[in-house]
Amino acid sequence: MIRINPHYTKLQSSYLFSTIGKKVQDFQSANPDKTIIRLGIGDVTRALSPSVIQAFHKGVEELSQDTTFRGYGPEQGYDFLREAIAKIDYQDKGCQINPDEIFVSDGAKCDTGNFQELFAQDVSIGVPDPVYPVYVDTNVMAGRTGAFMNGRYEGLVYLESTKNNNFVPSPPSAALDLVYLCFPNNPTGAVATREQLTEWVEYARRNRSLILFDAAYVEFITDPAIPRSIFEIPGSKEVAVEFRSFSKTAGFTGTRAAYTVIPKECMAWDDSGKDYSIHSLWNRRQTTKFNGVSYPVQRAAAQVYTPQGQREIQELAAYYLGNAKLIRETMIDLGFPCTGGINSPYIWVETGTNSWEFFDTLLEKTAVVTTPGAGFGTCGEGYIRISAFNHREKVIQALERISQSMQT
Ligand SMILES: *Cc1c(COP(=O)(O)O)cnc(C)c1O
Repeated sequence: MIRINPHYTKLQSSYLFSTIGKKVQDFQSANPDKTIIRLGIGDVTRALSPSVIQAFHKGVEELSQDTTFRGYGPEQGYDFLREAIAKIDYQDKGCQINPDEIFVSDGAKCDTGNFQELFAQDVSIGVPDPVYPVYVDTNVMAGRTGAFMNGRYEGLVYLESTKNNNFVPSPPSAALDLVYLCFPNNPTGAVATREQLTEWVEYARRNRSLILFDAAYVEFITDPAIPRSIFEIPGSKEVAVEFRSFSKTAGFTGTRAAYTVIPKECMAWDDSGKDYSIHSLWNRRQTTKFNGVSYPVQRAAAQVYTPQGQREIQELAAYYLGNAKLIRETMIDLGFPCTGGINSPYIWVETGTNSWEFFDTLLEKTAVVTTPGAGFGTCGEGYIRISAFNHREKVIQALERISQSMQT
């Protein structure tokens, strides 16, 4: 008899987006003439940029000739891409990261999800609340938690992000072994200052913990005072791993390309106190379970690092940030306190009522879809997340509908 991994039975069905989907479908059936506007999704809507498409095509062409054909590539990514990433994203910005510390992958979701398997079963884990669910569910699957009770898994430490701390949790007094941080944050849109990240790095150094830093939204940071990388913080290279993605920054959500930075100084220990390089462990893991990202996709990703590619992704980010500004300003004008939407494509709106009720009312009155904050964790109750990933006209139309509905 084939028996199930018992930890899977603890998982909550991912009811958030399926419930939203069902509610939207029911609404559309009941109101076939209404045009729904989706500001709930975390997916981009604008096409890959012209020069990225060109590089992508060229990569495909190379596969059509025996002389330029490529089969299996290096599991860690091609040098041309690792070198471009190290130079443009790190060295040019003052972070000493080498190309061989970059692991190219098919997604920050997979990497943030898989990384936990390098560590012991009984490490203590801190996750933000509200949270990108991948960090939590992958640790549940691995058996590092107890049951789900009152909206939380037993055995995890929830780092509460509320208006009292401006949605940036401080390190707890307890010594956690593994800490997940995400800035600019999904779902709150909050960013961490240099001082706040320094506190976390010092905490990790004191406790020999590891910070898993998810920077999937880095390209939306416009404030020069906000660190773009955890590696801007002195001492971070011994205690942090950083995840980045081409998904939100360059429109690769369907194309799939991302990378993880693991400094060689980063260590984990066995029970006897012997140290192991996390870089080597991840390399061992990747060469066993992963066969790299397709060549044309890596060529497309490398195009992002040319001057033209950089201009194109900055234009893309500016477009979504323009939407975010409109959303933020409108919601504030309507009397809803907001965070995010400045260095982030997400606006976290304090509704003053239950998340789901607010979501339902908004859908009913305006046919605009948002995401109820409660779906991201207990601290998300009383909020909705509005996403700036949509076409400008749609955003403007959605905001007009919302404004009108609030005035009647
Ligand atoms: C979208 C997103 C990712 C990106 O995932 P990919 O797998 O690279 O598409 C990672 N982290 C967060 C918080 C996200 O919202």
